[in-house]
Amino acid sequence: MASESVVWFRRDLRVGDLPALSAAGDRALGLFVLDDRLLGPSGGPRRDFLYRSLSALDEQLEGRLLVVRGDPVDVVPRVARAVDAQEVHVSADFGPYGRERDAAVAEHVDLVATGSPYAVAPGRVTKDDGSPYKVFTPWFKRWLDHGWRGPARTGADTLAWIDPDDVDGRGRRVRIPTPDRPGPAAGEAAALARWREFREDDLAGYDDERDRPDLDTTSRMSVYLKFGNIHPRTMLADLARTRGRGAEQYRRQVAWRDFYADILFQRPDSARRNYDRKFDAIRHDSGREADELFEAWCAGRTGYPIVDAGMRQLAAEGWMHNRVRMIVASFLVKDLHLPWWRGARHFMQCLVDGDLASNQHGWQWTAGSGTDASPFFRVFNPTGQGEKFDPTGDYVRRWVPELRGVPGKAVHALKNDRPDGYPEPVVDHAEERREALARYGELP
Ligand code: FAD
Repeated sequence: MASESVVWFRRDLRVGDLPALSAAGDRALGLFVLDDRLLGPSGGPRRDFLYRSLSALDEQLEGRLLVVRGDPVDVVPRVARAVDAQEVHVSADFGPYGRERDAAVAEHVDLVATGSPYAVAPGRVTKDDGSPYKVFTPWFKRWLDHGWRGPARTGADTLAWIDPDDVDGRGRRVRIPTPDRPGPAAGEAAALARWREFREDDLAGYDDERDRPDLDTTSRMSVYLKFGNIHPRTMLADLARTRGRGAEQYRRQVAWRDFYADILFQRPDSARRNYDRKFDAIRHDSGREADELFEAWCAGRTGYPIVDAGMRQLAAEGWMHNRVRMIVASFLVKDLHLPWWRGARHFMQCLVDGDLASNQHGWQWTAGSGTDASPFFRVFNPTGQGEKFDPTGDYVRRWVPELRGVPGKAVHALKNDRPDGYPEPVVDHAEERREALARYGELP
């Protein structure tokens, strides 16, 4: 007998390679809940990308995506009752809030989770004795051994989509907002197009170029992965057909995303606190001067060109190159002596790809307090990092217009010739490095 169900989309805004669709039976209502608990900390650029992704999905479902604002614990059961659905189908969410929310929803409906946003679901890759890994490299080896399924063959026509306008009592349908700020093209077609373009143009050179912000040749797939416009399995299947170091290195990077999701699943408290609790004892600065330094960092006005370029790229594009994320994070923690979670919160407000697991653990890696972290005593020298990874100086000149007249890599090591309008360094790196190491030395 044909049965009705609900497909509740969350971080899987696509129809291809989506196992939950195959599980959902013959006819379903597609639902998305605008949840203020997730929208609140998001920031405009990420919300815009979400709205664009929802519009693209709605188009794929021929205008049949029901978007409702509210608390999922109220909305989902009400919508399920309205279509007399036996089951609500989802891709599993492994984040701290998502797990709690899904457990609460499952008290009212039969919530069926099929698949997840990851190649290998968190909790699956374990040591022989079942305990979790803490270090990436052995985890990665196990992850490769574990493997993953091929892409699921699904599409918009896997199911017949119920027209929400025919459903009484479903709650007020929200018109999907149309953002006026420019932003990256969103949705499944845009994700697949970007992925194809990256494979054709830059994958082969990825291993050599991925640390070079001036070249700007990384994939920028993070935003599509964040919202599930594409599943990593689809990408991994293409990588498996591609030879060379570029594809191998890219697979390793995709694995970091799975790894951090796994770590956050094992230790949900690490979203807000040090994974390594020893770091709870480190001294941070606070007060007016610390706030002013934080503001200078956010505004890209620290007087350190690579840091300022990164922070201005973040403000302008809602994205920053990975190497520069590490440099600006190190600067906040080790040169300004501010707690990592202050920077992480700012990132989560600005980043279009803002993802709790990758962000909080990217920050903790830099701060030295995370799993498998960079040792605290390795303090990035912002000038040296700039010279090494932006050797042409093009990245800095692209984002810091005041410095466009400074040629080549001289742009990283300004002396007494700072162009008008470009700030003096807010701190002295050599001095702050010593201070950071002294504070580290105080840890038990
Ligand atoms: P590519 O180099 O093309 O990499 C391909 C994919 O691999 C990425 O899209 C991403 O899914 C994954 N990946 C690569 N590096 C990492 C990494 N270090 N950790 C986890 N996944 C990785 N990534 C996010 O997706 N969201 C975040 O909020 C986020 N915050 C970060 C904060 C800090 C302080 C740091 C150091 C890193 C953070 N990252 C985050 C990881 C990384 O910077 C971005 O994934 C990457 O820059 C995205 O650009 P890309 O797609 O062009 O990357």
